[in-house]
Amino acid sequence: MSARRAALQLIGLRLMLASLLTVTSAYGQTQPAPAAAPAAAAQPAAPTAPAVGESSGRWLSRTVDGIMGTRIFVEIWADDATAGEAAIDAVMDEMRHIDDSMSTYKPSSEVSKVNALAAKRPVRISRELFGLLTTAMQYSRITEGAFDITYASVGYMYDFRERKRPSEQQIAAALPAVNYRHVLLDRRTSTVRFSQPGVRIDLGGIAKGYAVDQGIEILKARGYQHALVNAGGDSRVIGDRRGRPWMVGIRHPDHPDQIITRIPLVDAAFSTSGDYERYFDEDGVRYHHIIDPRTGHSASKVRSATVIAPTATRTDGLSKTAFVLGPDAAMKIYNRLDDVDAVLVALDGRILYSSGLTPGDMPAVGANAGGASGGDTPAADTPPAPH
Ligand code: ADP
Ligand code: MG
Repeated sequence: MSARRAALQLIGLRLMLASLLTVTSAYGQTQPAPAAAPAAAAQPAAPTAPAVGESSGRWLSRTVDGIMGTRIFVEIWADDATAGEAAIDAVMDEMRHIDDSMSTYKPSSEVSKVNALAAKRPVRISRELFGLLTTAMQYSRITEGAFDITYASVGYMYDFRERKRPSEQQIAAALPAVNYRHVLLDRRTSTVRFSQPGVRIDLGGIAKGYAVDQGIEILKARGYQHALVNAGGDSRVIGDRRGRPWMVGIRHPDHPDQIITRIPLVDAAFSTSGDYERYFDEDGVRYHHIIDPRTGHSASKVRSATVIAPTATRTDGLSKTAFVLGPDAAMKIYNRLDDVDAVLVALDGRILYSSGLTPGDMPAVGANAGGASGGDTPAADTPPAPH
């Protein structure tokens, strides 16, 4: 997509948002939420009748559990049901392929091989993994180190299901290995090497977004013009939901059934990170799956962060930042990026919107959409060719 088209779409999105969003200062003041709405998932709108003269089609959808440790949901508007089911098959196959290659839970995955060997010698990796590691490094730089796949050097010692966490001594011993600069990529040889022992990587913070983008590319290549792909907290839509935007609900951090705000989306991606996804509470402290690379502890400066941008790789790469840097510093980064918007739930429950989403602040839209870039371009998310 051209930068101009992306900017125009963003302006369109922001105009829609301006008419729909209610800025609130606390949970209690938001508009009433529909019951039992899924967390940060696109809300199916009522089906829209096909326009006169348009061929008849239907919505096809499928949910599959247990890929990339999460639930995958795909929905498309299809004229031909058989071709539509085959397209959804292809998306699911792609998700399985990415899981097989990038999961740290699978000893045979490429990433597990890298973790086992890269401190000893350069490890040759697929173009696809090389591309995603390169993208991950870009997000570390954009987020001033808040996004860091080497968080896993400490992160591997947490097990939220088993209520396990490392001791302070274990964290202190492992922390020097957490730094994205320890990951050395050599494009010429397509290898990765770690600069010191103890370094581990985990793509749990970006692989789902990437997989969603890959799924969307598959659907686009087959001509689908209205579709949604969702993997855990990461989603992207093609087009609208036939005449109306896709509606995304952002859930209340403590009440899964309550939606605190809704966002209309067309041709966009969004990711929500929350401290309620994988966690355990102990002595009044919440230990959860987003780790501050500087401390090795759970990063707890917001309750949830939703990021909206053209690709899900981008939204996934940015949604952890607010937890680590806090709402003010994170908003500065989000507002600097001309294709990014964000909705944060602060620790005190306030809902904070990036400048492009503030209804009373529309002049900022043009300035932001056409203005200074944070040095990143959507091209950074261009998926590498499959190997
Ligand atoms: P989801 O997995 O539902 O998409 P998130 O996008 O919030 O949730 O990603 C959380 C995951 O990101 C964690 O489970 C972990 O694998 C990874 N992660 C945790 N801390 C960091 C960090 N500081 N930088 C990059 N990835 C992280
Ligand atoms: Mg995610």
